[in-house]
Amino acid sequence: MSPTPNAVPEGGPRTGGPESADPRPSEGPATARQPRRRAVTATANVPLTPTIHVLTFSLPPNDSMEFVPGQYVTFFFRRDGKSVTRSYSIYSSANLHDRFSLLIKRVPQGFASNRLCDLTPSPAATETILGPLGKFLYRPPGDRHVVMVATGVGLAPFIPMLERLQAESPATPTWLVWGNRFMEDLVGRSDLERKERSWPNFHFVPVLSRPPPDGSWSGAVGHVQAQVRARFPDLSHADVYLCGATPMVNEMQDLSLELGCPRDQIYVDRWGEHSG
Ligand SMILES: Cc1cc2nc3c(=O)[nH]c(=O)nc-3n(C[C@H](O)[C@H](O)[C@H](O)COP(=O)(O)OP(=O)(O)OC[C@H]3O[C@@H](n4cnc5c(N)ncnc54)[C@H](O)[C@@H]3O)c2cc1C
Repeated sequence: MSPTPNAVPEGGPRTGGPESADPRPSEGPATARQPRRRAVTATANVPLTPTIHVLTFSLPPNDSMEFVPGQYVTFFFRRDGKSVTRSYSIYSSANLHDRFSLLIKRVPQGFASNRLCDLTPSPAATETILGPLGKFLYRPPGDRHVVMVATGVGLAPFIPMLERLQAESPATPTWLVWGNRFMEDLVGRSDLERKERSWPNFHFVPVLSRPPPDGSWSGAVGHVQAQVRARFPDLSHADVYLCGATPMVNEMQDLSLELGCPRDQIYVDRWGEHSG
């Protein structure tokens, strides 16, 4: 984990980006918009499971926010007289500029995740954010494959990325390897399965580390690392995107290098020791 995982210098992106400057300017990401502080209003709070919610916030009528798929927003809270910040990746379409959604997992005793998951949508439910932020950005793949690896709600930034990839580069062979413990954690699974049916070059690989004992799970079992090792003997022609808990991202980064992926084709978003 970075020493201060949620400390965000105002106006500037923080951890969670690729570890090198964009090496391919001609194929670089769309320019990220300048981050600004904004007042946003909670308009929806949908529990997908007892611990995972989709929160939707609208911007004021005179504001709009463009972002590059993969970016996040940072919330500013007050706690014991001090400012506390927490970051959340944007889960909704980058085509929406007047609102955004987040996929938030309640952390036991977690300050911000519970506060957000307990929000009752109303015109009075306003929060302050800074955004859009981050260098974990969708990049046009050129002639490379794309391999996305997430654990838990680390899925969030990949949803707008997949939408953009499908729209702009449907011929690109694209994989999403998504690890979770339990089957009930696979929120939005049916949407991803639908996407797989409608987009022949998209391959969705959900992986469970604790599949149901009744045999009702016929998918991959174990950890994402083993799935990637088994499925991709050569990653030299892939763009690899990794998002979620820091230990998984670090292990996957090492594995991607071992499987031949050049360092400058690996993009990482580390959320902390436990998150994702
Ligand atoms: C760039 C970025 C993007 C992020 N995007 C998302 C996102 O889209 N959705 C999302 O849910 N989170 C996301 N996170 C994580 C989020 O910022 C918070 O760290 C998380 O919600 C926990 O904050 P909290 O205030 O609730 O918990 P804290 O009050 O900070 O933590 C309480 C305790 O729980 C431990 N803890 C922290 N996280 C976890 C965990 N996941 N499981 C178990 N214990 C934990 C802490 O070490 C601490 O002991 C992102 C983080 C980063 C850096």
